[in-house]
Amino acid sequence: MTSQPNALIVGDGPAGLSAGLLLAKNDVDVDVFGTDQTPMHKALLLNYLGIKEITGSDFQQRARDQVADFGATLHESKVVDLNRDGDGFSIETDDGDTYSGDYIVIGTTNDAHLQALDVEMAEGVADVDRNGRTNVDDCYAVGWATRSQKIQAIISAGDGAAAALDILSDIAGEPVHDFDVVE
Ligand SMILES: Cc1cc2nc3c(=O)[nH]c(=O)nc-3n(C[C@H](O)[C@H](O)[C@H](O)COP(=O)(O)OP(=O)(O)OC[C@H]3O[C@@H](n4cnc5c(N)ncnc54)[C@H](O)[C@@H]3O)c2cc1C
Repeated sequence: MTSQPNALIVGDGPAGLSAGLLLAKNDVDVDVFGTDQTPMHKALLLNYLGIKEITGSDFQQRARDQVADFGATLHESKVVDLNRDGDGFSIETDDGDTYSGDYIVIGTTNDAHLQALDVEMAEGVADVDRNGRTNVDDCYAVGWATRSQKIQAIISAGDGAAAALDILSDIAGEPVHDFDVVE
Protein backbone atom coordinates (compact mmCIF):
# COMPACT_ATOMS: atom_id res chain seq x y z
CA MET A 1 0.00 0.00 0.00
CA THR A 2 1.22 3.54 -0.75
CA SER A 3 1.84 5.87 2.20
CA GLN A 4 -1.38 7.73 1.44
CA PRO A 5 -4.07 5.14 0.72
CA ASN A 6 -6.49 5.91 -2.07
CA ALA A 7 -9.89 4.68 -3.11
CA LEU A 8 -11.65 4.35 -6.44
CA ILE A 9 -15.42 4.85 -6.28
CA VAL A 10 -17.29 3.45 -9.27
CA GLY A 11 -20.71 5.10 -9.43
CA ASP A 12 -21.89 8.56 -8.43
CA GLY A 13 -25.34 7.95 -6.98
CA PRO A 14 -26.06 8.37 -3.25
CA ALA A 15 -24.16 5.18 -2.38
CA GLY A 16 -20.91 6.03 -4.13
CA LEU A 17 -21.02 9.71 -3.17
CA SER A 18 -21.63 8.89 0.48
CA ALA A 19 -18.64 6.54 0.53
CA GLY A 20 -16.58 9.21 -1.19
CA LEU A 21 -17.63 11.84 1.32
CA LEU A 22 -16.54 9.99 4.45
CA LEU A 23 -13.31 8.81 2.87
CA ALA A 24 -12.30 12.21 1.52
CA LYS A 25 -13.27 13.92 4.79
CA ASN A 26 -10.84 11.58 6.53
CA ASP A 27 -7.91 12.26 4.23
CA VAL A 28 -8.13 9.30 1.87
CA ASP A 29 -7.41 10.23 -1.74
CA VAL A 30 -10.69 9.61 -3.52
CA ASP A 31 -11.59 9.42 -7.21
CA VAL A 32 -15.31 9.11 -7.99
CA PHE A 33 -16.36 8.01 -11.48
CA GLY A 34 -19.74 8.50 -13.14
CA THR A 35 -21.78 10.74 -15.40
CA ASP A 36 -24.57 11.51 -12.92
CA GLN A 37 -27.11 9.36 -14.73
CA THR A 38 -28.79 8.20 -11.57
CA PRO A 39 -32.55 7.60 -11.27
CA MET A 40 -32.37 10.18 -8.50
CA HIS A 41 -33.09 12.74 -11.23
CA LYS A 42 -36.64 11.31 -11.46
CA ALA A 43 -37.23 11.43 -7.71
CA LEU A 44 -38.88 13.93 -5.42
CA LEU A 45 -37.53 13.03 -1.99
CA LEU A 46 -40.06 13.32 0.81
CA ASN A 47 -38.54 10.48 2.82
CA TYR A 48 -34.91 11.42 3.42
CA LEU A 49 -34.58 11.91 7.18
CA GLY A 50 -33.73 15.49 8.07
CA ILE A 51 -34.72 16.95 4.71
CA LYS A 52 -38.41 17.82 4.42
CA GLU A 53 -38.51 17.94 0.62
CA ILE A 54 -35.91 18.07 -2.14
CA THR A 55 -35.76 17.04 -5.76
CA GLY A 56 -33.37 14.22 -6.51
CA SER A 57 -31.50 16.52 -8.86
CA ASP A 58 -30.98 19.15 -6.17
CA PHE A 59 -29.92 16.41 -3.75
CA GLN A 60 -27.37 15.12 -6.24
CA GLN A 61 -25.94 18.59 -6.86
CA ARG A 62 -25.58 19.27 -3.14
CA ALA A 63 -24.02 15.87 -2.59
CA ARG A 64 -21.55 16.27 -5.44
CA ASP A 65 -20.53 19.73 -4.20
CA GLN A 66 -20.11 18.42 -0.63
CA VAL A 67 -17.94 15.50 -1.73
CA ALA A 68 -15.79 17.75 -3.92
CA ASP A 69 -15.43 20.29 -1.08
CA PHE A 70 -13.87 17.56 1.06
CA GLY A 71 -11.25 17.03 -1.62
CA ALA A 72 -12.52 14.11 -3.70
CA THR A 73 -12.05 14.27 -7.46
CA LEU A 74 -15.25 13.69 -9.41
CA HIS A 75 -14.55 12.36 -12.89
CA GLU A 76 -17.30 12.80 -15.51
CA SER A 77 -16.55 9.47 -17.11
CA LYS A 78 -17.72 5.89 -17.14
CA VAL A 79 -15.65 2.96 -16.01
CA VAL A 80 -15.21 0.45 -18.82
CA ASP A 81 -12.73 -1.99 -17.31
CA LEU A 82 -11.74 -3.10 -13.81
CA ASN A 83 -8.85 -5.33 -12.78
CA ARG A 84 -7.02 -6.62 -9.77
CA ASP A 85 -3.60 -4.95 -9.76
CA GLY A 86 -1.25 -6.46 -7.18
CA ASP A 87 -2.80 -5.77 -3.77
CA GLY A 88 -5.00 -3.05 -5.26
CA PHE A 89 -7.12 -2.33 -8.29
CA SER A 90 -6.92 -0.57 -11.64
CA ILE A 91 -9.71 0.80 -13.75
CA GLU A 92 -10.02 2.26 -17.22
CA THR A 93 -12.51 4.95 -18.17
CA ASP A 94 -14.32 5.57 -21.44
CA ASP A 95 -11.99 8.47 -22.17
CA GLY A 96 -9.03 6.06 -22.12
CA ASP A 97 -7.51 7.04 -18.78
CA THR A 98 -6.39 4.51 -16.19
CA TYR A 99 -6.36 4.85 -12.41
CA SER A 100 -5.17 2.63 -9.62
CA GLY A 101 -6.33 2.39 -6.04
CA ASP A 102 -5.76 0.50 -2.81
CA TYR A 103 -9.51 0.14 -2.29
CA ILE A 104 -12.43 0.01 -4.67
CA VAL A 105 -16.10 0.69 -3.96
CA ILE A 106 -18.62 -0.39 -6.57
CA GLY A 107 -21.86 1.58 -6.45
CA THR A 108 -23.35 0.81 -9.84
CA THR A 109 -25.91 -1.73 -11.03
CA ASN A 110 -23.57 -2.97 -13.73
CA ASP A 111 -23.00 -6.70 -13.10
CA ALA A 112 -19.97 -6.61 -15.39
CA HIS A 113 -18.14 -4.48 -12.83
CA LEU A 114 -18.67 -7.11 -10.16
CA GLN A 115 -17.89 -10.00 -12.48
CA ALA A 116 -14.65 -8.38 -13.64
CA LEU A 117 -13.32 -8.61 -10.07
CA ASP A 118 -14.81 -12.06 -9.38
CA VAL A 119 -17.19 -10.70 -6.77
CA GLU A 120 -19.50 -13.45 -5.55
CA MET A 121 -23.19 -12.87 -6.17
CA ALA A 122 -26.28 -13.87 -4.22
CA GLU A 123 -29.77 -13.60 -5.68
CA GLY A 124 -28.52 -11.43 -8.53
CA VAL A 125 -26.65 -8.83 -6.48
CA ALA A 126 -23.24 -8.59 -4.83
CA ASP A 127 -22.95 -10.83 -1.79
CA VAL A 128 -21.68 -8.48 0.94
CA ASP A 129 -21.54 -8.21 4.70
CA ARG A 130 -23.25 -5.31 6.46
CA ASN A 131 -20.23 -3.08 5.76
CA GLY A 132 -20.30 -3.77 2.04
CA ARG A 133 -17.29 -6.08 2.09
CA THR A 134 -17.25 -8.54 -0.79
CA ASN A 135 -15.30 -11.80 -0.99
CA VAL A 136 -12.49 -9.85 -2.72
CA ASP A 137 -10.08 -8.17 -0.29
CA ASP A 138 -10.46 -4.36 -0.23
CA CYS A 139 -13.34 -4.49 -2.72
CA TYR A 140 -16.70 -3.17 -1.50
CA ALA A 141 -20.13 -3.02 -3.10
CA VAL A 142 -22.81 -0.58 -1.92
CA GLY A 143 -26.35 0.55 -2.64
CA TRP A 144 -28.27 -0.79 -5.60
CA ALA A 145 -25.39 -3.14 -6.45
CA THR A 146 -26.26 -5.08 -3.29
CA ARG A 147 -30.06 -4.82 -3.13
CA SER A 148 -32.54 -6.02 -5.70
CA GLN A 149 -35.40 -4.65 -3.59
CA LYS A 150 -35.76 -2.12 -0.79
CA ILE A 151 -34.00 0.61 -2.75
CA GLN A 152 -34.12 4.05 -1.11
CA ALA A 153 -31.68 6.91 -1.35
CA ILE A 154 -31.09 6.98 2.39
CA ILE A 155 -30.34 3.26 2.46
CA SER A 156 -27.81 3.61 -0.36
CA ALA A 157 -26.18 6.56 1.39
CA GLY A 158 -26.00 4.47 4.58
CA ASP A 159 -24.40 1.60 2.71
CA GLY A 160 -21.76 3.93 1.33
CA ALA A 161 -21.05 5.40 4.76
CA ALA A 162 -20.69 1.95 6.33
CA ALA A 163 -18.22 0.87 3.65
CA ALA A 164 -16.21 4.06 4.13
CA LEU A 165 -15.97 3.54 7.89
CA ASP A 166 -14.86 -0.04 7.32
CA ILE A 167 -12.11 1.13 4.95
CA LEU A 168 -11.04 3.85 7.39
CA SER A 169 -10.94 1.26 10.18
CA ASP A 170 -8.89 -1.07 8.00
CA ILE A 171 -6.39 1.70 7.31
CA ALA A 172 -6.20 2.72 10.99
CA GLY A 173 -6.06 -0.86 12.27
CA GLU A 174 -8.79 -0.05 14.79
CA PRO A 175 -12.47 0.91 14.69
CA VAL A 176 -12.99 4.45 13.36
CA HIS A 177 -15.95 6.80 13.82
CA ASP A 178 -16.49 10.07 12.05
CA PHE A 179 -17.83 12.24 14.87
CA ASP A 180 -17.76 16.03 14.98
CA VAL A 181 -18.82 18.08 17.99
CA VAL A 182 -20.19 21.54 18.53
CA GLU A 183 -17.76 24.08 19.99
C1 LIG B 1 -38.93 7.10 -10.53
C2 LIG B 1 -38.10 6.93 -9.29
C3 LIG B 1 -38.43 7.62 -8.15
C4 LIG B 1 -37.71 7.42 -6.97
N1 LIG B 1 -38.10 8.09 -5.86
C5 LIG B 1 -37.42 7.91 -4.71
C6 LIG B 1 -37.81 8.60 -3.52
O1 LIG B 1 -38.77 9.36 -3.51
N2 LIG B 1 -37.09 8.36 -2.40
C7 LIG B 1 -36.02 7.50 -2.37
O2 LIG B 1 -35.40 7.34 -1.32
N3 LIG B 1 -35.63 6.86 -3.48
C8 LIG B 1 -36.32 7.03 -4.64
N4 LIG B 1 -35.94 6.35 -5.76
C9 LIG B 1 -34.82 5.40 -5.65
C10 LIG B 1 -33.46 6.11 -5.71
O3 LIG B 1 -33.31 6.71 -6.98
C11 LIG B 1 -32.41 5.04 -5.46
O4 LIG B 1 -32.61 4.54 -4.14
C12 LIG B 1 -30.98 5.58 -5.55
O5 LIG B 1 -30.75 6.18 -6.79
C13 LIG B 1 -29.99 4.44 -5.34
O6 LIG B 1 -28.72 4.99 -5.24
P1 LIG B 1 -27.40 4.15 -5.62
O7 LIG B 1 -26.27 5.07 -5.42
O8 LIG B 1 -27.45 2.87 -4.93
O9 LIG B 1 -27.57 3.81 -7.17
P2 LIG B 1 -27.72 4.78 -8.40
O10 LIG B 1 -28.41 6.03 -7.98
O11 LIG B 1 -28.33 3.97 -9.48
O12 LIG B 1 -26.25 5.21 -8.75
C14 LIG B 1 -25.43 4.46 -9.62
C15 LIG B 1 -24.58 5.44 -10.40
O13 LIG B 1 -23.60 4.70 -11.14
C16 LIG B 1 -23.43 5.36 -12.37
N5 LIG B 1 -22.86 4.42 -13.34
C17 LIG B 1 -23.48 3.48 -14.09
N6 LIG B 1 -22.59 2.85 -14.90
C18 LIG B 1 -21.38 3.41 -14.63
C19 LIG B 1 -20.07 3.20 -15.14
N7 LIG B 1 -19.82 2.31 -16.10
N8 LIG B 1 -19.07 3.96 -14.63
C20 LIG B 1 -19.29 4.87 -13.66
N9 LIG B 1 -20.54 5.11 -13.15
C21 LIG B 1 -21.55 4.40 -13.63
C22 LIG B 1 -24.84 5.81 -12.75
O14 LIG B 1 -24.80 6.86 -13.70
C23 LIG B 1 -25.37 6.27 -11.40
O15 LIG B 1 -25.12 7.65 -11.19
C24 LIG B 1 -36.63 6.53 -6.95
C25 LIG B 1 -36.27 5.85 -8.11
C26 LIG B 1 -36.98 6.03 -9.25
C27 LIG B 1 -36.59 5.27 -10.48
